[in-house]
Formats: sequence, structure tokens, C-alpha cells
Amino acid sequence: MPYKNYIGGKWVAPRSGNYFDSLNPHTTKSLGNFPKSNREDVLLAIDAAEKTLPSWKTVPAPKRGEILLRFAQLLRKDKERLARIMTKEMGKVLNETRGDVQEAIDTAEYMAGEGRRLFGHTTPSELPDKSCMTIRLPLGVVAVITPWNFPIAIPAWKIMPALICGNTVVFKPSSDTPLCAIEFVKLLEKAGVPKGVVNLVMGSGPEIGDVLIRSERIRGISFTGHKDTGKYIAAHAGLKKVGLEMGGKNPIIVMDDADVDLAVDGVLWAAFGTTGQRCTACSRVIVHKKILRKFERALLKRVRKLKLGSGLSPLTDVGPLVNKAALDKSNTYVHIGLKEGAKLLCGGKPAKGPGYYFQPTIFTNVAADMRIAREEIFGPVLSIIAVKDLKEATSVANGVEYGLSSSIYTKDIKNAFVAMRDIEAGITYVNSPTIGAEVHLPFGGVKSTGNGTREAGIEGINEFSEIKTIYVDYSGRLQKAQGIE
Ligand code: NAD
Repeated sequence: MPYKNYIGGKWVAPRSGNYFDSLNPHTTKSLGNFPKSNREDVLLAIDAAEKTLPSWKTVPAPKRGEILLRFAQLLRKDKERLARIMTKEMGKVLNETRGDVQEAIDTAEYMAGEGRRLFGHTTPSELPDKSCMTIRLPLGVVAVITPWNFPIAIPAWKIMPALICGNTVVFKPSSDTPLCAIEFVKLLEKAGVPKGVVNLVMGSGPEIGDVLIRSERIRGISFTGHKDTGKYIAAHAGLKKVGLEMGGKNPIIVMDDADVDLAVDGVLWAAFGTTGQRCTACSRVIVHKKILRKFERALLKRVRKLKLGSGLSPLTDVGPLVNKAALDKSNTYVHIGLKEGAKLLCGGKPAKGPGYYFQPTIFTNVAADMRIAREEIFGPVLSIIAVKDLKEATSVANGVEYGLSSSIYTKDIKNAFVAMRDIEAGITYVNSPTIGAEVHLPFGGVKSTGNGTREAGIEGINEFSEIKTIYVDYSGRLQKAQGIE
């Protein structure tokens, strides 16, 4: 039986009548047929979201929070099952997919609490017997467009703040992870999210995503994905509020005073966890030349022990890449790196299938201006760049168009503070790797990584709310501001 869209509280077959397969990247076998929706399907979803908006936005926010808490409880109960589905659909190892579900639980709980805050400001008026304040209102119908690499956590990062602020949602997940999206929405339904508040439409980004971004009935778009898609959305979304979270080329700086073993631990996890397919994955290690050889030796020893295989096996360290295109991309970049003159320390080839496996790969002798050191590969391919001091290290770190996450390993507090100040990124870690975001802190990047919005934490609700300014005059006479008589 093919899967269905979820529109207006009902599971419905797509008007298009078309379907696509979602493949298990370990077996390359299909997990089922999912709606390849068309314009008409999207318009129905927008209709449903619009229809429910007036009632949903007047539900008291703490009551909306109660639904989010029920959702968190259901996620917790279903954590293992969801983690296994996620591993089957996108390859990430079970330990990490459990973390993905946990992140959604944490987000739902955090945003449920926001239902009792959603603070505005009160401030004195310049006039007597007059009161001033701001209140937070929903945007209206918002589109949530998500990538495949955190198929439960990223929808939660967006849909939880959207709901607590009183918006209704049209959710378009990645075509690599439609099954995870269906499971996510089923739990929302079970938690008591009213009909039409969250609508799920699956299908091609360029086809149905385009309808969403151009629709004037959509008041906000929250997108996470590739830089080129984000730029396209920014150019075609018109005047609606747009939040963009895009790629990275995240550096870890390892100074000559660093604890090398600790740095190796961090680099290993940041570069090869999720098979390098995290927006915050480390793809550049910028190493002080005094410790370069020691660092390389220690890293190589650890990388050679990494076990590739099904994410469901507890013995596996590195799962497959998500699809054939991702495998080809890593392969292509290895050829580019070799042509550019970088030296391959290990890996460099697809690994034994049938799944989309690629060997953990390290290049050294990498120059900062090589393409492998500047472009997002989104695979297990790491570049090592040697530098003479912190000044050169930060200049290399900043010499790319992205600015999401970053890290420095050092024991010198001065190095740490200079790095915190000078690295152009939305996030800087000290003595820990580029991954490890916590949901009560804002998340996002600078330069081509984003457009200034932040997800998670208190900042996360700004993306999904408008501020309204209120003046209440109880003087009983006409008063004019700016001293006008
Ligand atoms: P992608 O841009 O290919 O797809 C993301 C979503 O956009 C999908 O749902 C896709 O169908 C949709 N889409 C594609 N074309 C569209 C269009 N023209 N209009 C509207 N929607 C469209 O990205 P991906 O391959 O799924 O994800 C990987 C990328 O996401 C990487 O670049 C990674 O760094 C980035 N990412 C960023 C963050 C972050 O928070 N900054 C987090 C995770 C992933």
C-alpha cells in the first residue's frame, strides 16, 4: 500500500496519482512508495492550514504547550522504534538516531515551556496615563522545508516553535526521508494536534517546494538545506519572513599546546560521525605545524580502526552515505583533491556495497584555497591544513563562504578567547568538536550559512512570531507624542 499525505487531519492519496521510492542506503532496497505530490496537493494543504488558523491561534499558548508535552512523551515511548526506522531510511548509526529523537524530545519540552512565557515587553510611555507594551503573535500559515540528515530533530526544531507561537504548518520533508516524516506526524496526531494544524505534503523540492515559497498565503518559510536551495528560496519568496539554515565547511583549529589525544577524539567524531553528513561536521582541521606529524599519526591510527557497516549493528562506527548522488559527490571530490595536489593519507574510494559506502578519507598537504578545503562535500572527507600560528589559523578558518560551527583545541586561555572573538561562525567550541548543539541555545550561522535567523533556544521563537506594539491611553484626552501641542 502506498503511503499518503496528511492534509486537514486525514491521510489522503495525492491528487497527482504519482509516487516515488525511499531507499534504504544500506541495502539500496525500497522502503515503500510515497506521494510525489503536485501543485494541487500543496494548495489543498495550504487551504487546510488557513482554515484552522483562526481557532488554533486563539488556543491559550500553555494549552498548546500541553500538546507539545504529550508529543514529547510519545516520542520518548517510541524512541527505539523511531531510531530504527531512521537508521533504515538514512543510514546513520543507531546511537546517533537515538540522539536525533532525544533532540526532538528536548525541543518539544523546551518549547512547551515557552507556552508559559512568549514574553513581550512593557515600557513607560513618554506621556502621562499611557501604557506601552509589545505582544507576540503568530505569522499565520508557515512552510517548513527540511533536509534528510536529522529527519526527526530538524522538523521538531521548526514545528515545535511554530506551534507554540500559534502558527499552522505545511510540512515538506526531504524525499530521502519521507517515512520519518510520516512517523513524526502520526505522533503529532496522537498527541492531539487538531486537524489541519500540521499538514504533510511529500514530493519534489523544485516542484512542490516552489509552490510553497511563491504562495502569498504562506507568511513564513523555515528552511534547512543546501546553500543553493536556500539562495533560490530567498530570491523567490517575496516579502514573507524567511529563515535559512544552510551548509558549512567547519574548521577545528588544533594549536601546538593542545591535548592531541583529546583533539583526535573530537576530530574523529566531528569528521566521520554521521558519515560526515552533518551541517556542523568538521571537514577542515587546521593544525599548528609544530604538532602536525604527531597529530596525523594519532588520527590515522584511530581512523583505520573505524568499522563501516549497517547502522543497525552495534559494531558499526560509520554507516553508508544517504544515496548514490552523495557517494558520487565524495568520489568526485577525491579526484578533485588529487588533481589539486593534496596528498591522500587514507581512504579515497567507495567501500564494499551493496550500500552507498565510502571509506573514511583524509587529505593532507592541503592548501586553504583548494576546492576540497572550501566547498561542502557532505561526506567522510577531511582536509588537514598546516599553519604557523593562530593568526594564520583564524585567517584560514575564515577563508570560506560558510560560517556555521568552529572549534579550537588549546590550553592557552588567550588563544581560546581570540578564537571566540575572531572566527567568523555562528558557533565556536573550545576543546570540544564542532558538533554537539544543545536545544536551549541558539543555533545558526553567518555568511552563506544563513540569513541571520537562529533556531532553538529563546531565539527559535523569533522566527515564528511577529511583534506587535500596543499603546493604551487611559488619560481620557487626546495626547500627542514628540511634544506636539
Ligand atoms: P537540499 O537543499 O537538497 O534539500 C532540503 C529541502 O529543500 C528538501 O526538502 C528539498 O526537497 C527541498 N527543496 C529542494 N529544492 C527546492 C526548491 N527549489 N524550493 C523549495 N524546496 C526545495 O538539502 P539536503 O541535501 O536535504 O540537505 C543537506 C544540506 O543541508 C547540506 O548543505 C547541509 O549542510 C544542510 N544542513 C544545514 C543545517 C543547518 O542547520 N544549518 C542542518 C542540516 C543540514
